[in-house]
Amino acid sequence: MSDQPPHELLKERVGEVIDLRAAIALLQWDQEVNMPPKAAEARGRQLATLSAIAHERFTSADMGALVAEAASEAKTLDYDARRLVEETAHDYEKATRLPTAFVEKLAGAESAAYEAWTRARKESDFGLFKPHLAGIVELLRQKADYFGYQDSPYDALLDEYERGMTTKAVREVFAELAVEQSKLVAAIAKSSVQPDVAWIDQDYDEQAQWDFTLRVLRDMGYDFDAGRQDKSVHPFTTNFDLYDVRVTTRMDPRDPFSALTGSMHEGGHALYEQGFRPEDRRTLLAEGVSLGIHESQSRMWENMIGRSLPFWRHYHHEFVRLHAPRLDQRTPEDLYRAINRVEPSFIRVEADECTYNLHIILRFEIEVDLIEGRLRVDEVPECWNAKVKQYLGLDVPNDAKGCLQDIHWSHGAMGYFPTYALGNLYAAQLFEQIQRDLPGLWADVERGDFAPLLGWLREHVHQYGRRLLPGELIEKATGAKPTAEPYLNYLRKKYGALYGLTA
Ligand code: ZN
Repeated sequence: MSDQPPHELLKERVGEVIDLRAAIALLQWDQEVNMPPKAAEARGRQLATLSAIAHERFTSADMGALVAEAASEAKTLDYDARRLVEETAHDYEKATRLPTAFVEKLAGAESAAYEAWTRARKESDFGLFKPHLAGIVELLRQKADYFGYQDSPYDALLDEYERGMTTKAVREVFAELAVEQSKLVAAIAKSSVQPDVAWIDQDYDEQAQWDFTLRVLRDMGYDFDAGRQDKSVHPFTTNFDLYDVRVTTRMDPRDPFSALTGSMHEGGHALYEQGFRPEDRRTLLAEGVSLGIHESQSRMWENMIGRSLPFWRHYHHEFVRLHAPRLDQRTPEDLYRAINRVEPSFIRVEADECTYNLHIILRFEIEVDLIEGRLRVDEVPECWNAKVKQYLGLDVPNDAKGCLQDIHWSHGAMGYFPTYALGNLYAAQLFEQIQRDLPGLWADVERGDFAPLLGWLREHVHQYGRRLLPGELIEKATGAKPTAEPYLNYLRKKYGALYGLTA
């Protein structure tokens, strides 16, 4: 036996698992960014083998013994060492709760469901997906039973993505959002003040879009010596270490803003991951504490900064120059209005700030009813369409534009959607505090100086990694528990002014 204390030994062992996970993540990054199509089968095998080894190592009896030993001495450790042991024990517990046979069954059901969903969406035929979705729902109920829960089986699923969050808490917050955001969207639709966006409809040079994303990422403080940007079909962020955090984006030749918003969104995720503490490298503390907190970082940069007027006052000249002569007549206000146009639509990923949460709320309601057994799978399309009518005022023309649009359910990911809306709420609450703490924020943004903002986020959010749970982090940073008010105030103020609404 080693004479190292158990928590040190545990850290070393988990470090090896983290190395394996980094290698897996690198193979996945390559799959999305570089890999030739014929390599898909081999890559799938390589990933499966490495994932199995990483899982076996992390869930081994040796690891379990070490976790138990370290946990028993945790009280005697300093705060950082204790939190690391607690988080490691949490993950070990989660990873070993599910019997191997169940994990295999779920993985099998998910890959069959994914195949079926791809076809169902293409043919807009819910019937093809229905039996698979029914199977997934049944397995997720079992999964919740394995994890355990107090009030709702959905709590157990939610907790995987947003630690400590409950169905009841989400339901309360979403009920308020649903009413208030629907009202706002209806008022915007009726307003006589509508932005002129006809000029957007042109072809835009991809290189110009790409160059602009690099400039903005650099200005945001993204460290290109510890990261890089590439192109991929769906933008994403991944890291293999504190000093290797990568982002991707995509260009749309008909939309001058899409590469920018993609890069700023992923850049926000990446700044979080580049902001973990160096001493936490190769430990479980150097991770985002939840998807909601992660999303608060991406959405703050994308929406609160990238869709602000001061931002466009600063970048207007450069943006117009890069796209000359197409945008020569455009003022910063024109760009600001165009990037903030509100239009209820069927597709979540294309939704604007005012309607986005409504897409999430209807998914949450359907998921909870499915998991709690109040809704049958064959009732999903009808229920979906009724909610889209209720919240967005639209008639869903087919299931491809309705309940078949998202990949999540086919991946067995229920409880995931709420984190997107929670990210919006966290972002607004943090941003309110930032504006109190940094009175010069908008003057800085108008000069293209994001260092004070990044400094605030480093100090109050990034550096903690997993030390603080989501609710604790928000409360410590803002002095209040997470609430919907700041987001609603943000929307009313911004879009009230844009659309000439009287309060
Ligand atoms: Zn994101």
